[in-house]
Amino acid sequence: MNHKKVYVAYTGGTIGMKPSDKGFIPESGYFTEQIASLPEFASPDMPQVKMHEYENLIDSSNITPEDWYFISQDIKSRYDEFDGFVVLHGTDTMAYTASALSFMLEDLSKPVIVTGSQIPWSQMRTDARDNLITSLLLAGNYDIPEVGLYFHNRLYRGNRTRKLNASGFHAFQSPNFPAIAEVGTKIKLHEELLLKDPAERLKIQKISPPKVIILSLFPGFPAELLENVLSSSIQGLVLMTYGMGNAPCNDGKLLKLLSDASAQGVIIVNCTQCYKGSVDMRGYETGHGLLNAGVISGFDMTPEATLTKLSYLLSSECTVEEIKQKMQISLRGELTTEIE
Ligand code: ASP
Repeated sequence: MNHKKVYVAYTGGTIGMKPSDKGFIPESGYFTEQIASLPEFASPDMPQVKMHEYENLIDSSNITPEDWYFISQDIKSRYDEFDGFVVLHGTDTMAYTASALSFMLEDLSKPVIVTGSQIPWSQMRTDARDNLITSLLLAGNYDIPEVGLYFHNRLYRGNRTRKLNASGFHAFQSPNFPAIAEVGTKIKLHEELLLKDPAERLKIQKISPPKVIILSLFPGFPAELLENVLSSSIQGLVLMTYGMGNAPCNDGKLLKLLSDASAQGVIIVNCTQCYKGSVDMRGYETGHGLLNAGVISGFDMTPEATLTKLSYLLSSECTVEEIKQKMQISLRGELTTEIE
């Protein structure tokens, strides 16, 4: 008998949904009942599993920072009792939740594996079975001191992931960091890639509803649009730019708006629209303009990690200068290139 214990927080998502007139919907009791008698639970490799179905099961498109806090508190309250944690979640915003949890769960020393599926458990060609069973094995039997996202034979660092495929089983990818584990006939965990075990005990920090926005540039982008956004008293802006972090340098109004906002304490982070690679604003004149306007680099962070990290830091006691400094270094392995 395996004496390891895994706590499952079932928040909703396709994995447990039921067909309805309006498409798939989550329903209380439906999935929990279906998996209660899963034969794999009796296997000697399987840790002991405690399933906790949330009272309000949601489609993850409805998730909010309050829900992230609820999940973090739930994990913290069971932390000493269990060896690992699995969060069952919808795929639509899974990369946001995995990123948010990675920042909120400070000094995490146990595995927290976020997973879900593209086809519900109840359907014949479901991918839920492997995603759930392998996540339980990873959470119970391996030392992974971080938030991971397991999907279709790969365990990724949560804050490195993006949902890249709306319908394929290989729905998630980690563009700028290798998978932490590959799952085939054997489970190959790349221990050398894992975060270090922290010295301190787990604590959580809330993410307050952020005054942060993501804005993507496009040819002909009107500076007035940025003006309107900046007039709504935001604290942070994730600017999705071209290539290595470039923006038009022939639009004086755009650059002036950015530089004024930055001078007034708005934290503007440059993220590339490219799927892979890193921001380097020194490469082109069109990047220099942003650098001079006080925009900081998001390096190779995903937009999901950038948004949640910025929101997390803005919810802390840090000053604007401290936040800018922390945005440009790795806190949980979310970025590769560090500021020189
Ligand atoms: N809309 C669903 C959700 O995110 C999609 C899924 O779980 O795959 O909850």
